[in-house]
Amino acid sequence: MTIMPKTTKKTTGFPLRRAVAAALLPLVALGATLAPLAEAQAAAPAQQRSQVPGYYRAAFGDFEVTALFDGVVPLAPGLLKGLAADEIQTLLARMFLESTPGVQTAVNAFLIHTGQKLVLVDAGAAACFGPTLGRIQDNLKAAGYAPEQVDVVLLTHMHADHLCGLRDAQGRAAFPNATVRVAERDAGFWLDEKTAASAPKEMQGFFRMASEAVAPYREAGRLSTFAPGEVLLPGVTAMATNGHTPGHSSFLVESQGRRLLVWGDLVHSHAVQFARPAVSIEFDTDPAQAIATRRKVFEQAVREGWSIAGAHLPFPGLGRVGREGEAYRWVPAEYGPLPAATAPSSR
Ligand SMILES: [Zn+2]
Repeated sequence: MTIMPKTTKKTTGFPLRRAVAAALLPLVALGATLAPLAEAQAAAPAQQRSQVPGYYRAAFGDFEVTALFDGVVPLAPGLLKGLAADEIQTLLARMFLESTPGVQTAVNAFLIHTGQKLVLVDAGAAACFGPTLGRIQDNLKAAGYAPEQVDVVLLTHMHADHLCGLRDAQGRAAFPNATVRVAERDAGFWLDEKTAASAPKEMQGFFRMASEAVAPYREAGRLSTFAPGEVLLPGVTAMATNGHTPGHSSFLVESQGRRLLVWGDLVHSHAVQFARPAVSIEFDTDPAQAIATRRKVFEQAVREGWSIAGAHLPFPGLGRVGREGEAYRWVPAEYGPLPAATAPSSR
């Protein structure tokens, strides 16, 4: 096969052109064989348009932590309080976030395998907030576990997006062997009939959803409360982070010197509240306390180097908090391999 023109020898670029031709020849040959194949495959494959399973794994010392995706809910920027609407828009735009019909906000739960016990922190919204949520059960199974294997469900607080998933569609315990544990102050508020009866009408539904969600566990004697600072399991300690609700709690998870704070609802808008911690959200029971708690925990997280797991941070909601002058920033965890599992011990 002759590719070089006969005049080549007279040009100074000959060696280069010969090298290029040599490199291209196999491609030309390949093109000849691929051409009929390309014609045969002219019809494009169908797009998949389904997301990969909503779980993500991390390791902290001997503990395995699996983030479970319940879904997303759009939150209107107007729910954020304490900052002018145009400043909120600027902060959202800085992160390229769409705010119509609302800012996409994830709902995450976290499954902690301590080596002895399987602990679920929060249970998702099930059907309480519509079809964009309610995937905890599916994603728990996709992650390789069964609902029957969960020993304990710890609730950060008693809002519907964290506890409706405690029940299945038939109203039975969705985690049939689990004990549900919640801060005594949150139980005392959300499960108290007098408080519920005196609450504003628009809040009544939240009280009803809370008591219905825990009912199967309560009837079976498997609902119990905890106090601030209580060690709930070896390596898992309750931390009072009140404000969002009266007994809102976070869980400090420690193994082999690694520490992870599963902080629940300390942040609803990563774009706004790391930059401006004094911005509260409509759902805060006590906004001033919620703001004070957020500032305190941000500071602790920076100082102590804690990893963070957030219920409404972009999935998987795992990462670190950094300081930036008077403000803070969210640094998401990076996808990566896990260290090998430690040998299983008896449960
Ligand atoms: Zn929430």
